[in-house]
Amino acid sequence: MSKGQYILALDLGTTGNRAILFDKNGQIAGQAYKELTQYYPQPGWLEHDPREIWEDISWAMQTAIRKTGINADEIAAIGLTVQRETCLLWDKKTGRPLHNAIVWQDRRTAPLCNQLREAGKAQEIRDRTGLVLDAYFSATKLSWLLDKAQQVQDPPFETENILAGTIDTWVLWNLTGGKVHATDHSNASRTMLLNLTSGQWDDTLLELFGIPAHFMPEIKPSMGLFGTTDSSVAGAEIPIMAILGDQQSALFGHGCDRPGSLKCTYGTGAFLVTHTGSDIAWSKNQLLATVAWSKDTGNGKPEIGYALEGSMFTAGACIQWLRDGIKLITSAPDSQDMAEAVADNGGVYFVPALSGLGAPHWDMTARGAFLGITGGAQREHMVRAVLEAIAFQVREVVDAVNEDGGTKIQQLKVDGGACQNDFLMQFQADVLEIPVERPKVIDVTAQGAAYAAGLALGFWTDYEALLSNHETERVFVPGEAGSLAQECFEVWKKAVGRAKNWIDS
Ligand code: ADP
Repeated sequence: MSKGQYILALDLGTTGNRAILFDKNGQIAGQAYKELTQYYPQPGWLEHDPREIWEDISWAMQTAIRKTGINADEIAAIGLTVQRETCLLWDKKTGRPLHNAIVWQDRRTAPLCNQLREAGKAQEIRDRTGLVLDAYFSATKLSWLLDKAQQVQDPPFETENILAGTIDTWVLWNLTGGKVHATDHSNASRTMLLNLTSGQWDDTLLELFGIPAHFMPEIKPSMGLFGTTDSSVAGAEIPIMAILGDQQSALFGHGCDRPGSLKCTYGTGAFLVTHTGSDIAWSKNQLLATVAWSKDTGNGKPEIGYALEGSMFTAGACIQWLRDGIKLITSAPDSQDMAEAVADNGGVYFVPALSGLGAPHWDMTARGAFLGITGGAQREHMVRAVLEAIAFQVREVVDAVNEDGGTKIQQLKVDGGACQNDFLMQFQADVLEIPVERPKVIDVTAQGAAYAAGLALGFWTDYEALLSNHETERVFVPGEAGSLAQECFEVWKKAVGRAKNWIDS
C-alpha cells in the first residue's frame, strides 16, 4: 500500500470544479474551488469549455495541495466525480476539443429526440438503457457534435483520431497524459448508449445514433484502478482508484448502498436517487433505471449495483439565474433572507422549467414561468416562489418513488449547494410532511468519491466506520406551515400544466 496519507477527491460539477483532500480519518484537510463559466449561445443551449474545466481542476488540485501544506506524493489515491451526461469530442493527436462540451441541461437535440420518438424508438431505448428518450442524455449530443464536426471540416472527414467522452473521461485522459481513455459504469449509464442489462456499449444504439464504436471509452468498474497520473501533470504518479457520476457518488457518500436507502442532492438540478440492489428496478412512474456503481471483483466480472432516479433539471440553477440572469439577488444566500421577509408567496408561483422539465414530466418543450402575479407582488414573493418551486418538484418525485416502491419514504437525507438554504429545507419538510436531515459536511459528492477511491485502494477498509463519523447538522421537522404548503402544492401543479408544451420543437 502507498505511503500516502491523503485521498484527493476531484469534484467536477456543473457550477464549478472542486478539489478536496481527505485525511486518514475521513476529515477534510484542505480544498480549493473555482466557479465555471456557463455559455448560453442560444435559448435552451448550454456549453462548457473543456479546456477551462481541465485548467480549473488542475489549479484546484495544486491549490488544495499547497493550502494543506503537503506534497503530491503524500496522496495515496484520487477519486473523480463528475457532472453527468455532459460530453465532448476531441482529437487524440492534438488533445484539442472539436467543439465546446454540450452540457446535460442543453435542449438543442430535442428535435432529434422527437424524430426518434416518431420513429417508434422510445420504448426500445428505454428497454435497452433504462432511460426516458430525452435531450438530457449524451447520445443525441454526441450525434450533434459529430454532425457539426463533419460540417466544418474539409472532406474527406477523418474520424480515426477522434475520442468521445463525458467529463470524467476527458479529465482522466488529461490526468494520465493521454494514456487512458475510459469511463465507469455509472457515467456510461447516462449516455443512452450503455446496455443496462449487459453493462456494455450497445451496438444497436451506437448505430442508431451514428456513433462509431471506436470513439467510445473503455468501461471499467467505478471502484478499481483506472490508471496513474502523469507526474508532469499532478506532481507525482498517483493511482486513480474511483470514478462515479456525481449523483451516484453522493449516494455512496450518504451510505445508501442497499435497497430502500435514498438521498436528494440540491445542486444545479435536484436528484433524488434510491439504491435498488443488484437488480434493475423498472419504474412505472417515469423514473430512470440507472447504475449506482460497480466494483472490481478481480475476476473480470464487475459487481454492478443499480438505482432508481428522479432527475429535476433546475434547482440551484434558478437561484443562479436570480443572481446572474435577472439580478434579483446578489448572492445565493440572499434568497433565504428575501423569502423569509414575506409571510407567504403572495399568490406567486414559479415553474422551474428553464431547461424543460425532467422527472416525472419529461417535457422538453416546457419553459420557465411565473404565474399568479398581481399588482401587490414584490421581489421577495418572486424569490420565495422560486425556492418553493424547488421543493414542490421534489415532492412530485417523492410521490413517484412512493408509488413505485410501494412503501412510503420516511425521511430525506440531503446534500448539495442549495441545501444550505434553511428556508428551502424547512419548506421541503413541510411540503413532504417528513423530516429532512442535513449533514454537517454537505460536500457528500466529493466525500463519496474519496471513500470509493480509498476503499478500492485499501487505504480504508471499513465503509461503515467512515459513515459512523458523519454528523447531522440539523433535522428540519414538518411544522405548522404544512397545511398551507399542501394547498400551495396543488396550485403549483396547475402552474406546471400551463408551462408544459410551450415551445415548438
Ligand atoms: P453542482 O454540483 O451541480 O455544481 P453544487 O452542489 O456545487 O452544484 O451547488 C451549487 C448550486 O447551489 C448553485 O446552483 C447555487 O445557486 C446553489 N446554492 C448555493 N448556495 C445556496 C443557497 N444558500 N440557497 C440556494 N441555493 C444555493
